[in-house]
Amino acid sequence: MSTIPGLIVCLQSGFYTVQTELGLLECHLRGRLKKAPRSGDLAALGDRVEVELSGPGRGMIAAVMERTRALSRLAPTPKGMYHQIIIANPDQAVFIFACARPAPHAGMLDRFLVISEKQGIPPLIVANKIDLVGEETARLLFGRYSRLEYPVVYTSARSGQGVEQLRQQLLGKISVFAGPSGAGKSTLLNRLLPNLDLAAREVSQATSKGVHTTVRREMYPLAGGGYVADTPGLKALALWDIEAEELDGYFPEMRPLVASCQFNDCSHVHEPGCAVLAAVADGRIHPERYESYLRMRFGEQE
Ligand code: GDP
Ligand code: ZN
Repeated sequence: MSTIPGLIVCLQSGFYTVQTELGLLECHLRGRLKKAPRSGDLAALGDRVEVELSGPGRGMIAAVMERTRALSRLAPTPKGMYHQIIIANPDQAVFIFACARPAPHAGMLDRFLVISEKQGIPPLIVANKIDLVGEETARLLFGRYSRLEYPVVYTSARSGQGVEQLRQQLLGKISVFAGPSGAGKSTLLNRLLPNLDLAAREVSQATSKGVHTTVRREMYPLAGGGYVADTPGLKALALWDIEAEELDGYFPEMRPLVASCQFNDCSHVHEPGCAVLAAVADGRIHPERYESYLRMRFGEQE
């Protein structure tokens, strides 16, 4: 039987909405897939699939293509932890922080950046609410990330400033948004996706009762191409699969230095001849970035 290629753009309770050249198809997963990813959910938001038509507007997912990358987490279930794919094949992870109200939480952003390095997903930082502090102050707050060559976009979801520039960075890509609550994520999404009433959707989800209701996961098409997905929650982005010894490799400013440390198992805390400590001492490594490293390696995660 012939199949057509598609992209999973929504899933809920075992049903998948697949975007194809024939439009949106409501699909379920065939019991035995021809191809399936090696780990994690069989089919996830963002997966590229092959669909067999089974009726008008309906189909059966016959194969799931291999993922280039995935944003994933360990999710607790009654049967134990399992490897949940938040989104397959994202082109970038967009981390939204406010310049003020709430003040940017550098430790949280650093943790997100480590996760994106670990999972191989290019990050894009959004510094929102620039109307509250002015662009100059905003650039002081986020400049350390530009110096690490992480892209930063400055926006005001309120005034609209920078939103067009952000849209350009999203065009043609699959982006996943994350950020602390209050940073302005919903306001920005509503500006980027004007046909979408996110608030209304959240209400309708909240009123669907029952503890076993599975959450609807969706990515939204951008006018002009590309998709935007939201993360189900901040806890989704934990440092669950990062070994202490590999952490320095996910800090681009430390990565080139570690080979110069005197000990090859250097933890960069107290060892003599540590190239990282030398770089902290002479200002090549930002003190708060170094603090984030220490917290992630030795301390609590929040
Ligand atoms: P979320 O929790 O990240 O989804 O944040 P919201 O989009 O709900 O925004 C939180 C609050 O910040 C709301 O009162 C918004 O009106 C406000 N807000 C969002 N973006 C901006 C901005 O660019 N400037 C200012 N001044 N306020 C903003
Ligand atoms: Zn060292």
